[in-house]
Amino acid sequence: MPRGAAIEIQGLTKRYGDVTAIDDVSLTVAEGEFVTLLGLSGSGKSTTLMAVAGFVDPDGGSIAISGSDVTALPPEKRNLGVVFQNYALFPHLNVFDNIAFPLRMRRHAESEIETQVRRVLDLVSLRDLSARRITELSGGQQQRVALARALVFSPPVLLMDEPLGALDRQLREQLQIEIRRIHRQLGVTVLYVTHDQEEALSM
Ligand code: ADP
Ligand code: MG
Repeated sequence: MPRGAAIEIQGLTKRYGDVTAIDDVSLTVAEGEFVTLLGLSGSGKSTTLMAVAGFVDPDGGSIAISGSDVTALPPEKRNLGVVFQNYALFPHLNVFDNIAFPLRMRRHAESEIETQVRRVLDLVSLRDLSARRITELSGGQQQRVALARALVFSPPVLLMDEPLGALDRQLREQLQIEIRRIHRQLGVTVLYVTHDQEEALSM
């Protein structure tokens, strides 16, 4: 049973001065679907994803999640999981506290936080590293923590912007398989950005 939400992007446009970063983008992603945006560098992939997340304010168009217009909502009210290259982990917190952060922001009870953090630590195969400092993790492990933090509050949509871009080939292929498994397991709707044609096809 998919528990993901549908995404409807209608006529989305964003300009930066003379540069039109995205021009009249329309896209529908069905509940629980995995859609990859593939394009050259500078083609507007990140701008599109940032607009869906609420970090970029579009000049035109609309975004609906589960049929509700979210175009005017701030990011925290959209309740979407995001894994962006520039959306860094907190280096002064350990793995557990990084992943717990979204739940603490939402003022969940500590027992519930414990349960949910354990659940996503298992999901990304990091159960033994919960006390580890972020600075003591490999790049691949850090991306697993970022993924767990994005999923810990059970968002209906997961947005990923080149999440594996900094990893070597073998690790990238391993994590691609895991991301696909997690998508099947959770039924979350995924919008995934990459400039790598091979990665787009395999996802
Ligand atoms: P992609 O992610 O596909 O590489 P981007 O969405 O980052 O593309 O960028 C699309 C275009 O918008 C590029 O020409 C880029 O230089 C421009 N752009 C993106 N963000 C900004 C910004 N904050 N200020 C000015 N120009 C920007
Ligand atoms: Mg980009």
